[in-house]
Amino acid sequence: MGALTGKTALVTGASRGIGRGIAERLGRDGARVAVHYGTNAKAAEETVAAIEAAGGSAFAIGVELGTPRDAERLWDEFDRHADGLDILVHNAGIGTARSFGEIEQEEYDRLFAVNVKAPFFLTRLGADRLRDGGRVVNISSGLARTAAMPHLIAYSMTKAALDVFTRDLSKLLGPRGITVNSVAPGIIDTDNTADLLYGTEDGLARAAALSALGRVGTPADVADVVAFLVSEDGRWVTGHWLDATGGSLT
Ligand code: NAP
Repeated sequence: MGALTGKTALVTGASRGIGRGIAERLGRDGARVAVHYGTNAKAAEETVAAIEAAGGSAFAIGVELGTPRDAERLWDEFDRHADGLDILVHNAGIGTARSFGEIEQEEYDRLFAVNVKAPFFLTRLGADRLRDGGRVVNISSGLARTAAMPHLIAYSMTKAALDVFTRDLSKLLGPRGITVNSVAPGIIDTDNTADLLYGTEDGLARAAALSALGRVGTPADVADVVAFLVSEDGRWVTGHWLDATGGSLT
């Protein structure tokens, strides 16, 4: 029996990176995991296979967020596999390489559509499916609290908006015993950060130096934090912004 045996979890953007790490960890803890992806079905199936190989249970659901009726379509797909859920992790997100001076309105709108609007409507439309005593975790960013990378201003703004969503939603869902928290990673080694880390000779070393612990984070570093929040041990933590940057903000 794992800590999450009998629970169902949905992790958005679980085909790759941090979301995959979270899905695998929740699967190991006994949850049945809905592995959501946008376009990369093959990667999602690899996540499902990894969870099953470790003795867990999972299924993949693909809906590109930031497209019309994304939330409705995602829940329709989810309902074909499961009857309600206990854990909702909003992890899917996109970044931008374009600075304040460069970003166009279309890209700005897409950043907010995927990183902010999708979690908002997914939660609203899924609230009846989420069982009392459940958990919502929003994957934020250290950049919501520091101006360390001001050129990423539009991306950082989306994460700050997500954090306000966390705070207010914790009050709205609290009467049902549902906790809502933000987990804020620093630089994590994923496809998203490949250019930053490996695009230049000293990228990895410079990123590692930002952390008090002297290394770049892994998806598992974030997944273990999420595992605590969604477990029974995390029941009295809600509306919280949890720094999972490896000490990058200190
Ligand atoms: P990643 O490696 O690029 O993976 C992104 C995941 O999100 C993939 O599963 C992808 O699905 C899915 N996704 C992206 N856009 C989508 C869309 N429009 N619709 C549906 N699914 C979509 O990213 P990551 O680095 O793991 O980041 C995960 C989260 O952590 C993001 O919210 C990011 O902002 C946040 N974060 C990351 C870092 C970091 O250093 N990596 C730091 C702080 C916060 P497909 O495989 O189908 O494309």
